[in-house]
Parts: sequence; C-alpha cells; structure tokens
Amino acid sequence: MRKRILLVTLLVSVVGVLFLSVLFSAVFYGQTVEQAFAELKIYMNVYEAQFSDLPLSEENAHRLSEELGGVRVTFLSDSGDVLADTGGSTENHITREEVQEALLTGEGQSVRTSATLRESLLYYCRAVEREDGVVLVRLALPARSGLAIFADSLPSVVWFLVVDILCCLFVAWLATSFVLRPVEQLTQEAARSGGREVRTKYAELAPIAKMINLMNADLHEKVEKMKEDRRLEKLILNSIEHGIVIFRDPSDVILINRTAKRLLDYEVNEPVPCFINDREIVAVLEAGENASLVRKIEGRYYSFRFTFNERSRVLLITDVTETTAAAISKNDFIANVTHEMNTPLTSIRGFAELIASGAMPPEKMEGAANTIIRQSNRLSNLIRSIINFSAIDSDELPDYEVDLSELLREIVASFEPKIAEKKLALTFEAEDGVKVFSRRERLLEIVNNLVSNAIRYNKEGGALKVQLCGGECPLLTVADTGIGISEEDRSRIFDRFYTVDKSHNGAGGGFGLGLAIVKKLCRRAGWQLSVESELDKGTAFSIRFCAGKKQ
Ligand code: ADP
Repeated sequence: MRKRILLVTLLVSVVGVLFLSVLFSAVFYGQTVEQAFAELKIYMNVYEAQFSDLPLSEENAHRLSEELGGVRVTFLSDSGDVLADTGGSTENHITREEVQEALLTGEGQSVRTSATLRESLLYYCRAVEREDGVVLVRLALPARSGLAIFADSLPSVVWFLVVDILCCLFVAWLATSFVLRPVEQLTQEAARSGGREVRTKYAELAPIAKMINLMNADLHEKVEKMKEDRRLEKLILNSIEHGIVIFRDPSDVILINRTAKRLLDYEVNEPVPCFINDREIVAVLEAGENASLVRKIEGRYYSFRFTFNERSRVLLITDVTETTAAAISKNDFIANVTHEMNTPLTSIRGFAELIASGAMPPEKMEGAANTIIRQSNRLSNLIRSIINFSAIDSDELPDYEVDLSELLREIVASFEPKIAEKKLALTFEAEDGVKVFSRRERLLEIVNNLVSNAIRYNKEGGALKVQLCGGECPLLTVADTGIGISEEDRSRIFDRFYTVDKSHNGAGGGFGLGLAIVKKLCRRAGWQLSVESELDKGTAFSIRFCAGKKQ
C-alpha cells in the first residue's frame, strides 16, 4: 500500500511538473509574440510618419531596416509583387495570410514557424496610401518558437523534477507513515487481543475496529460451538457401547473410544495389540478388504467389523454375545430336538417293527406297548413345549384377577405323588386370597415349571418350599435343596433350550424351554423374576408380581 501511494504521488508530481512547464512555455511564447507584434506596429508607425515618401527601392528598404533595428522590410504592390525585400525574396506574396488581410482590412499579421521548428517569424503588413497609389509594406521579426522555449527550459525542468521527486517521496513517505501507523497498531492489537474488545483513538479507524470486534465475536462463537461439538462427539463416542477405532496403520490411531480402548487393551503411542498379534486380523489389514470377525473377550463375544476407505480404516466392535448365545441356543435346540425326537422315535419304531414281524413274545407285548405310549408322550410334551413357547408372543387375551393362593394350592397338590416319590419334605406357606392380574393358564405355566424343576433337580429326601406373600406386590418363592446351579449357568438357564445337563433331557427332564417360558411371561407382565442358587445346596426362584414396565 505504501509503495502504491509513493508511486502515485511520484507520477502525479512528474506529470504536474511537465504540464506546468509546457503551460509556462506556451504562455511565455504567447506574450513574446504579442510583444513583437506591438513592436512591429510601432515600427510601421515610424515608417508611415518618416519614411513613407521615400521611393520603394531596395536601397530604401535596407536603410529602413537598419533604422528599425534590423527588421525585415518588404515593399509589395497591391497585386502582391515584391518591389523590394531585405530578405531577398522575389516571388509574388498575394497568397500570404498577412497580405490578404492587409488588402481587406488595411493591416494584417501572421506567424510562421521555420522548418527546424526552433524559430517563428512574425509578419505585420499594412496598406499605405501614397501619391502613386496604395502599396503594401510588410515588416517581419524572428522570435523563438514555443518548442524552442520549452526545449531551452528543459535542463531547469529536469533539475526541478529531481528535487520535486525527492521532496514528494519524502512527503509521501511521511504521510503514509502517519496514515499506516495507526492501522498497523490496530492490526497488532487485534492479533494480540485474544478475543478481547479492540479499541482505537482514531475516529476514522473506529469502523474497522468495530468490524474486527464483530468478527472476533463471531469467531469466538464459532470456536466455542466447535469445542462444544467436539466435546459432544467425544461424549457420544465414549458413551456408546460399541467400540470404534479409526486408524491408518496399527500404530497410527486417529481416534479410539473408551470401549475400544478397554476391549483392545490399547495404550497411547503403542500399536493396537491385536492388530499385530492376531494373525487373522493382520491378514485382514494386509488385504485391505472389508471384513468381519468374531472375537471372545472377557467371556463375551464381539464382532470386529473392518471397513477400509481411501484415507483411513475403521474398526467397529459390537457386542454380539446375545446373538451368538441365541445362535448357540438355537443350535442346542436343534441338537436337542433332533436327539429328543430321535430317541423315542427309534424306540417306538423298534418295538413296532418287532410287533409287526411277530417276533415279540406275547408276555412282553404289554411292556412294549407301554414303552411306545411313554415315548409318544415324550414326543407330544416336546411339541407342546415348543408350541407353548411360541404362543406367548401372539397371546393377546385380556387379563383378569386370578386367585394365586388357590391356584398354588391346586398345583402343589397335583405334584404330591412326585414329591412323595422323591421323598421330599414339602413346606407350603401361602397367604390366602392373594390375587394377581393375569390369566390362569399363564400363572399355571409359570408355577408348574418352577415346582416341577424344584422336584426334578432336587435330591432324594431333599426339601421343597413354596411360599406366597401378599401385599401390593405379591411375592412367590419356590426353593429347593437340590443340585443347585453354577454361577456360569445361572446367566443362561433362562435362554431357550438351554439345559445344564444334556443327559437329563427328556428323561423325566425338560427340554430347556420351561424357564425360558417363565422368563418370557414375567417379562411381558412386567414382573420381576430372580434366582438365587448355590451349587449342591439348592436353588430359590422368586417372582415379585409388581406390574412394572411391560415388554
Ligand atoms: P428343563 O425343562 O430342562 O428343566 P428349564 O428351562 O426349566 O428346562 O431349566 C433350564 C435348566 O436350568 C435345566 O436344564 C436345569 O439344568 C436348570 N434348572 C432349572 N431349575 C433348576 C433347579 N431348581 N435346580 C437346579 N437346576 C435347575
């Protein structure tokens, strides 16, 4: 900016000086010409007064020229012929401007510049009345041309220009310094302000200061917003249960959230351990193609999903324990169902084939028929359990008040033969008139499952306690002193088709659907189901019939 101001100042001053020089030269030239014509007019008057009677000879022309200080004298006839000329010209002058004018008005003048342009010739012509008629007398004086005047003044102009340029440069530098210093100060203050308000004592700069303050405020707001966004992003990233890692290579991690750090044992500035130790993951990273793997960490299953893009790689870690467990459960179910169906079917077919072939002795016929009936019952039980389980989801029948005390009594009574068979000591403590808002068949299913399990997984001669407490949230407890459930199994016994000991399946035992049905029914009603158990000591299932959040 300073440079530009200096340049413009320089240009203006140079052009100004040159323009003035030309102007002065023109004015000076004009005055010179005017003065010369005035002089010529005086000479002409002198001629008219003193010499007009003299003959128009060459001699008299030269004499007159000497008398008039050396001016050129030309005598012309009224037809323009040269009668005498101190300049030595003989050609007819009728076409000359001053001659034409003199013939018309009595006097005329003109200026003609020489071929070199350095000199101008001033002509003054007058028609003079003589006894022998009208003649034209022309006087001429040389004068310096305008260009010559300008050229002569050039050395002085150049000197003046040099001094002028220096002065202009100095003044312009001073002026720009005066103008720019406050601007520079304002700029520095704005840079140092760190968001504080910027002030200036110069009124002219106040709008700029105001603008800077507005921009600062805007910037501050944007920075704060960005910080808030970053904080939120971090919060979201750290609060989601999925692990996220964005990285370029195993030791160049761009972003990692808390879950991923924990699951991957990640240390800052260290490579992600599994990225260099796990052969399958190393292969995936080398191939650079999107892939999913499942890894077991701290007893849970996680899906590792790798996504590759041009700039970075993304690993999304999702807990798939539930789905994996469901898949395992499903596989167990298929295995169980196949096994459970196969065993009675084999038995039924074997006996049926024996009977059909006539190889079965008549005395064994009854036993065989009983086995066929028992195995068929097992098959129908299995099918009924599966139907029961899946029917819960589509059960939209309305609830009503069920007398749970009454129902409990009936159920326990129905189990008495089995209790006696296992020689169990039964404790039945049920408050009367405890009502639960549900449906009879659902409660029957729940209690049946819990009591039958308490008998089935009890020890011979053990104890069975069925207790029901009333109140706002009635509490049912079915406790036994049986084989108990290990801590590991406790989390899975409510899964579909999960049985702790597969060898029990069907053989008086269930198919792993009983507790899954109980859990599903409780969850739908919003009741709280819990289990306490110690291996080899016993198990207690409790249901608090408190209508919480239904599912
Ligand atoms: P099942 O029909 O096989 O009994 P359940 O869903 O009712 O299936 O029970 C699942 C598993 O939980 C059973 O296989 C058993 O191992 C365990 N279990 C259930 N109740 C008890 C209990 N009272 N004592 C010990 N184990 C139990």
